[in-house]
Amino acid sequence: MKSFAYARAADLEAAVKLLSKTPNAKLLGGGTNLVDLMRENIEQPDALVDVTGLPLDRIEERPDGGLVIGATVRNTAVAGHPVVRDRYPLLAQAIVFGASGQIRNMATVAGNLMQRTRCLYFYDHAARCNKRAPGAGCDAIGGFNRMHAILGASDSCIATHPSDMCVALAALDAKVNVIGPSGARTIAFEEFHRLPEDTPDIETDLQPGELITGIEIPPLGFARRSLYRKVRDRASYAFALVSVAAALEVDSGKVRNVRLALGGVAHKPWRATEAERVLAGANAGAESFRQAAEAELAPARGLAHNEFKIELAKRTIVGVLGELAGG
Ligand SMILES: Cc1cc2nc3c(=O)[nH]c(=O)nc-3n(C[C@H](O)[C@H](O)[C@H](O)COP(=O)(O)OP(=O)(O)OC[C@H]3O[C@@H](n4cnc5c(N)ncnc54)[C@H](O)[C@@H]3O)c2cc1C
Ligand code: SF4
Repeated sequence: MKSFAYARAADLEAAVKLLSKTPNAKLLGGGTNLVDLMRENIEQPDALVDVTGLPLDRIEERPDGGLVIGATVRNTAVAGHPVVRDRYPLLAQAIVFGASGQIRNMATVAGNLMQRTRCLYFYDHAARCNKRAPGAGCDAIGGFNRMHAILGASDSCIATHPSDMCVALAALDAKVNVIGPSGARTIAFEEFHRLPEDTPDIETDLQPGELITGIEIPPLGFARRSLYRKVRDRASYAFALVSVAAALEVDSGKVRNVRLALGGVAHKPWRATEAERVLAGANAGAESFRQAAEAELAPARGLAHNEFKIELAKRTIVGVLGELAGG
């Protein structure tokens, strides 16, 4: 591991200053992803700015019924919060389906958003990887690509975003609050993570010197009826092959409201807007659910080892919506 300087930010202003003054500085949350990557020499920061002492460790209810979750709140605290469990069960479920209890106790909300892909070639210095070394090529495309993307991939990168929590946040229309040298701003969750295009090394909309201060979740009454389903190779401690986060409101047999997002299928948490469009006002039954899944996956493209994910994603969507509709 390369040597690095360490500083603990006393307040937000200090954190922004520390981050801006060292071009190759990284923020340190729980360290559960970053430190692993530093040990493998994939991340080689000159300095770490520890943000865990900042006053961003609270979950607050907004007067309108929404929630603001601070950037340094630990994943376990989010999943166990009574308001999250009651109003946004899909979020609590998504977090609990990720990693292990010990890791969730350390991992922060911001760190979860910013975690890097689990593409094996990204971790292998002997492999070509445009994300690790821009312009080098991508060995996953012609290699073993079972875990890789079926939606929104490019000729430069076919990696997937590994987070479970982010899939629920995409479905919930969350927003990401950030602060940087030019002040504070809010980014729609859908805009926060990027598709790879020809710059897979740029993964988010975060600008140099900016850090995440928290997540806002709007009030969404019908999200009390919501579900997260993760399909994976092992029952625990495995990343999603496909996951579905959904909230559904049915009125007189018709879909009144729906939110749907997919995980394990793209470089970013995938908001299923095409499926939502097909479902609006449709009969809340298996036929419409299948039509919605077909519409969402129509642009999907499989590779040598991940073609199966296309049908798997469709069936998982139909299964989750069917369960939420009550049968
Ligand atoms: C064995 C293992 C299994 C796992 N399984 C799963 C799984 O099944 N599902 C899942 O979703 N996740 C899984 N994870 C990933 C885990 O959720 C992440 O490691 C964790 O969420 C990262 O949070 P952290 O606070 O430790 O981030 P860190 O490791 O501290 O940082 C990660 C990144 O976030 C950046 N960062 C930290 N704070 C901020 C901030 N305030 N603003 C901007 N950037 C910031 C850091 O600079 C770094 O780039 C697994 C991890 C491990 C080690
Ligand atoms: S899929 Fe992306 S992360 Fe994986 S090797 Fe290719 S460029 Fe690198």
